[in-house]
Amino acid sequence: MEKRELLYEGKAKRLYKTDDSSLLISEYKDDLTAGNAAKKGIEKGKGAINCKISTRLFTLLGEHGIKTHLVKTIDDTNQLIKKVDIILIEVVVRNIATGSLTKRLGIKDGTVLPFALVEFYYKDDALNDPILNDEHCIMMDLVKSESDLEELKRLGRDINSILKKFFEERRLNLVDFKVEFGVDSEGNILLADEISPDSCRLWDMDTNEKLDKDLFRQNLGSVKVAYKEVLNRILK
Ligand code: UDP
Repeated sequence: MEKRELLYEGKAKRLYKTDDSSLLISEYKDDLTAGNAAKKGIEKGKGAINCKISTRLFTLLGEHGIKTHLVKTIDDTNQLIKKVDIILIEVVVRNIATGSLTKRLGIKDGTVLPFALVEFYYKDDALNDPILNDEHCIMMDLVKSESDLEELKRLGRDINSILKKFFEERRLNLVDFKVEFGVDSEGNILLADEISPDSCRLWDMDTNEKLDKDLFRQNLGSVKVAYKEVLNRILK
């Protein structure tokens, strides 16, 4: 598969066209951003670690019947993916309260939630990704119908159940995560983007140590050692 011109550069990945119009190549970068790129950094090798983590998690989810955009991983930092129209809704699923949820609603950090909480955020950096309710999503034509929103919620919960169990078996607590979806040429909703410690919160179940991007967000040290630890555990 030939890598052709750059189609789009995001905060953590570059997307390239290929010689097949239905396929793209997603290249993982070493860049780290927080607060919508208000804070920036680079850790050499982070992209390759996240590419491996995301490959393992997308493969796992595929084995459990979740349709994803991943076709195959080409090398350390490049994945061949199906071209989709990205739905401009970030689907966040939470098991434990932290981050923006504690700030917005005053829930004590670390509170175990009574059920997996699914939230929608508008994928728009200029607006700082504001929270959305179902009616905002329909009003703004972010999805075709109410049933698409129900499908996004169901997919979020199913992905959470699969990943939560997988991480627990590796002594990691899946605190929360963000996923993105896209629509393929046949109208199927596919899991897209990536799932990595850039987009999930993972706490060690024994020490409560953070093994995710909060290390960078909160200036707690290098993320690479933590991400490598996550990779080692999930490859077991
Ligand atoms: N998240 C993400 N991208 C975003 C916003 C959030 O990947 O643009 C992830 C984040 O890593 C966490 C979850 O979504 O796992 C919930 O984030 P939260 O709403 O608490 O926002 P934050 O505190 O990260 O600003």
